[in-house]
Amino acid sequence: MNDGQIPLGPGAEFETVRAMLSRWSGLAPGVGDDAALLDVPAGQRLVVSTDTSVENVHFKRAWLTPQEIAYRAAAAALSDLAAMGATPLGMVIALTLTEEWRAQIVLLADGFAAASRELGAPIVGGDLTAGSELSIGVTVLGAVKHALTRSGARAGDALWVTGTLGGPLLALRALENGTVLVPSQRGRFAHPIPRMREAQWLVAHGATSGIDCSDGVAADASHLAAASGAKIVLELDRLPLVAGATSEDAASSGEEYELIVTAPATLDRAAFEREFGLPITAIGQVEAVEIPAPGLETKNRGQRVPLPRGHSHFSG
Ligand SMILES: [Mg+2]
Repeated sequence: MNDGQIPLGPGAEFETVRAMLSRWSGLAPGVGDDAALLDVPAGQRLVVSTDTSVENVHFKRAWLTPQEIAYRAAAAALSDLAAMGATPLGMVIALTLTEEWRAQIVLLADGFAAASRELGAPIVGGDLTAGSELSIGVTVLGAVKHALTRSGARAGDALWVTGTLGGPLLALRALENGTVLVPSQRGRFAHPIPRMREAQWLVAHGATSGIDCSDGVAADASHLAAASGAKIVLELDRLPLVAGATSEDAASSGEEYELIVTAPATLDRAAFEREFGLPITAIGQVEAVEIPAPGLETKNRGQRVPLPRGHSHFSG
């Protein structure tokens, strides 16, 4: 291969690899050795995360194009790097392919290429195996100087969320009802964009803890509360909504890939919105821990309400 790639030997597996590499011009430097060699910038730490998407568990073939399925799998994994405030160094893709999917490998490759190009993560390695359903495992590698973790929330911080919530839940609901998605529903469902630079900005502006919204803002905020040993109050009536979503929808909508962070209440929201053209909204606060325990409390118009259910994949 060209592109600094190492020539591959004969065999069906390598034919499939070659088909993918032919779509990854410049995005997969050095693929072909037994393992990838990466440099971590001096003074930074390596950040690693892995995420698996399985057909009929995480997505249905009828709902998305092959390119979108591949893009989404990579974006979901890269969102975990974003949540740590990290910059991508690369990703490793492990595919389990049926015969039918092997015939569509070029379309999957194009989806990975889109994620690699748009999110700045070179494809540095992978693995192929045959199986009875499509499974996409993406391991992401990144570097960070000041990591954003789940455990730093402090009493007095505000709870913030980027973007608007509820779109993926409305999209899923429409798909399950056999309705065609309108573009505003399809956008972040089919093509989520991890908030990579936004997280780095928030770290630089005093964010104390953070997580990406994969299980729903209520469930993910409760992860922050638990990890920080803090009490977090989530005010449902302050959630930023996409058109057509209720605050309950927004609280439980998963796979949003927005950022949920604790940061000073004085955060310069206007500066963030100017920089990224994206809203950021204060949706609650961190309070001093009382008896009985740290955790999440939800309020609606100042009244305590039961915790909304989190997102779970549709097959359970
Ligand atoms: Mg996450």
